[in-house]
Formats: sequence, C-alpha cells, structure tokens
Amino acid sequence: MNALAGVVGQEFRKKIILRMYEMGKVPPAILICGSEGVGLRALAVEMSKLLMCERDTPPCGDCRSCRLALRGEHPDILYLLPLPAAERGKRLDWVKQLLANPYLPIAFTASASITIDDIRFLEEQIQLTPAFGGNKVAIIFDAHRMTAEAQNAFLKTLEEPPSYAHIILTTPYPDRLFETIVSRTQRFFLGRLSSNEIKGYLESRTGATEAEIELVSRLSEGSLGRAFLLLDKEYFPTRKRMLDLFFSLLRSAEDDLLLDAVQLFQNTRDKRLVSIFFTTSRSVLNDIVLYQRTREMEFIVNIDRKDEIVEVARLLPPDKLEEYISILDEKMSFLERNPNLEVLVFDFIFRLAGREL
Ligand SMILES: [Zn+2]
Repeated sequence: MNALAGVVGQEFRKKIILRMYEMGKVPPAILICGSEGVGLRALAVEMSKLLMCERDTPPCGDCRSCRLALRGEHPDILYLLPLPAAERGKRLDWVKQLLANPYLPIAFTASASITIDDIRFLEEQIQLTPAFGGNKVAIIFDAHRMTAEAQNAFLKTLEEPPSYAHIILTTPYPDRLFETIVSRTQRFFLGRLSSNEIKGYLESRTGATEAEIELVSRLSEGSLGRAFLLLDKEYFPTRKRMLDLFFSLLRSAEDDLLLDAVQLFQNTRDKRLVSIFFTTSRSVLNDIVLYQRTREMEFIVNIDRKDEIVEVARLLPPDKLEEYISILDEKMSFLERNPNLEVLVFDFIFRLAGREL
C-alpha cells in the first residue's frame, strides 16, 4: 500500500507531507482547505492512517492499527463532523460512510454544526494517553461548521496539544474560522484536479460509460465530489430536459414553448430542479460565449450538445448573450435566499423571451 494512495492527484502536497513524516516533523495542527470535492477529507483520512500504522512501511493496510483505521474504529483516531441533533448517536455510521469514499459529497443539513460539547469531548479524549501508545489523531471535518463557542473552546486545545497529538481540520471556507485558529495551523491548500485525474478515478471506481465519464470530467470543474453528484442517475435525464427547454428558448420564444415552460415550473417547490435549470443554462451560455470568442470546439464543456452550442453561437449577438448571463447570475444569486421559485424561474424565462412577466 502506498502512503497517501487514497488521495487523487495533489502530488506536490503529498510530497511535502511525506517528507515531513519522514523527518518526524508532522505539525500538531493542520488545516486542509480548497474547493469542495478536491480531496480535503481524503487527505485528512490518509494522513491519519499514515500516522497510525505500526509498521515500517506505513500505511501497511494490514497491522492492527491500519485495519481499525480503515473501519473508523481506531481508539486513537477521533472524528468530528457536523451532525444534526437527531444523528449524533449515529456518528460511527456517518464516519464509515465517509471513509468508504471520502470524495462523495455528504449531505450535512444546513443547520448541523460542531458544538462546544463536541469540542469538550475532543479535548477530553485527546488528553487521554493513546491506547496503542503511538500517535493520536483528531479530524474535524467541515471545521467552519464549528459554532463561535466551539471555536473559542477549540483555541484552548490548540494552545497546548499533547506531544502525541495531531489535529487535522478540513474546510472549503477557512475564512469562516477565527484568525487565531488559522494562524496556529499549518495550512495545506488543495487545488482543482485535472480532467484526466478525474477520469482515471471514475473509470476505476464507477460503472459509468466512457461517454458519461468524458462529459462529467469536463462538467465537474476539477472537483471529484461534483463529478459524483453529476453521475447520480437522476441527474442526466433532468439535465437533458432542462437543456432541451433552454435551447428551444434561445432559438425561438413562441407561445407554445412558453406555455410548456410555465407548466413545467408552475407552483414548483423543487429547488433542485430550478438549480439544475439555472446551472446547466449558465454552463451552456459559458460555452456559447467561449466558442464565439475562440471558434474552438475543443473548449466546449457540454460536449454532448456541441452542435447546438455552435448553432446558437452563430445565431445570437454577443451583447444579447451578455444580457442573458447577467440576468441569470442575478437569479442564481437569489436562489440561496429561499425565494418564490416559480416567480424566479418565470422571470428568467420571460426575460429570455424578451417579454414582460
Ligand atoms: Zn499498518
């Protein structure tokens, strides 16, 4: 088993970490940040295995520590994650799910946070001598979900961690952590993955077809987590429906078509559907503009719709496209504020069609 082998790409960061490990200089507090889905959780998990293995070529995958770490049951590895109150008793189930594939996005509910009680528990556990006499690792996933109270309490843990302890935080939003926390950690920023890295991983880990993998690796913007979301079996049919509608609206805005669109979104409460409509439309608009500017098909992300993208790029003037993009960006920015979805979508569709609502 290669050290840090469970982390896709990120070769430079891995090299630094392995070097620190060989020198016996892994920092006591580590902050792993970067975009969602590029491997923040994966790196934290792999580092914990590395630090725990009891053999000379870690992680061997076979010693007592490695086997327990793989199952999320190592007594000297503590995992904190933002769970809603009702799920707190099922922490181990969540951890096992996360360890099975750390790249899969986890649907933490918006209200779930890491509380002061979690941090007190961490403090208590970390002060106990390691059960196996080696290192002790605490991982805080989505550390930005620590409440202000929790962050305050955590600062004290960071001030004087025991010599055997390593605390690893992961978060796509380090700016939501107290500056005093960030400054006490060694920071590792993970960049986006290349589409080849994403392709390679999906080929080995999913049953998706070559065409799907090709498309997803382009659409995922360097995030393996996003790639997994896109491979969800409901996603492609929905994307197709939304893009069919969007292209027809771009080509012409006849009454029949508007009526169809109205029916599709009438009284809708389906935020996911609206979100897919907006994000896929935005992605296509991007492709159209890029094609107008470069005349290169190679840069088109939505490759399965490239003929229509070229066709619309020839049809629509750049200022019109710019206008659509700014309307859409405005609508997308409202989406997070729980708006009336129907009004939001209709306004976009009718402005696209050049009519007033
Ligand atoms: Zn081992």
